[in-house]
Amino acid sequence: MAKLYFYYGAMNSSKTANALMTHFNYEEVGQKALLCKTDTDTRDGVRVIRSRIGLEMECIFLSELLDMPEEKIKEYDCIIVDEVQFATKNQIDALSDIVDFLEVPVVCYGLRTDFQNNLFPGSERLIAIADTIQEIKTVCWCGRKATANARFNKEGIVRDGEQVFLGANDSYVALCRKHYKLGMLGPNE
Ligand SMILES: [Zn+2]
Repeated sequence: MAKLYFYYGAMNSSKTANALMTHFNYEEVGQKALLCKTDTDTRDGVRVIRSRIGLEMECIFLSELLDMPEEKIKEYDCIIVDEVQFATKNQIDALSDIVDFLEVPVVCYGLRTDFQNNLFPGSERLIAIADTIQEIKTVCWCGRKATANARFNKEGIVRDGEQVFLGANDSYVALCRKHYKLGMLGPNE
C-alpha cells in the first residue's frame, strides 16, 4: 500500500537535503522519483531544489504535478514534495488522492509552524491526514530541540507580520520553545 508521509522540522533541520537524498535513493535502485516544490517557494530560482549543504536538483512545481494526467503520474515510483508547508489544503488532499487511487507514495517535507508558532496550512492538513508523520530534529543554540522558527531583524525577534516572508532564509533561526518565548536568539542576546 502506498502511503502519504510528512517529515517536518524547524528551519535548518536539513529537510531539503533529506528530500534530495530520498530522490537519490530511489534513482539508485533504478526507480523513478519525481521532485516537486510548492509554487510559493521561488527562493532558489525556478524549478530547482537546493539544500544548504550544496546539493541541488531540478524539480517541477506542485501545481504542475497536480495538472499532470494520471497515466503520467503512475509512471513514477515516488513523488517527493519539498517546502510542503506552503501547499493548500486542497493540494494536500489531491496528493492523498495520488496515494489512494494511483498507488504512488508521496513523501512531503516542510516546516510544521510559522514564526508565530501557528501551523502552516499544508502542514496542518498533513498532520490531519498523513499516514506517517515524523520529525526531523535540529537544535537551538542551547542544545535543546528546536521547535520554533523565529523571524528576526536587526532589532531582534519579530512577532508580527505576514505568515509568508520569502527570499529571506537568513531572517529566521530555529529556537527551542523557551528561547522563542524569551526572544533570545543566542546566549548573549
Ligand atoms: Zn534554547
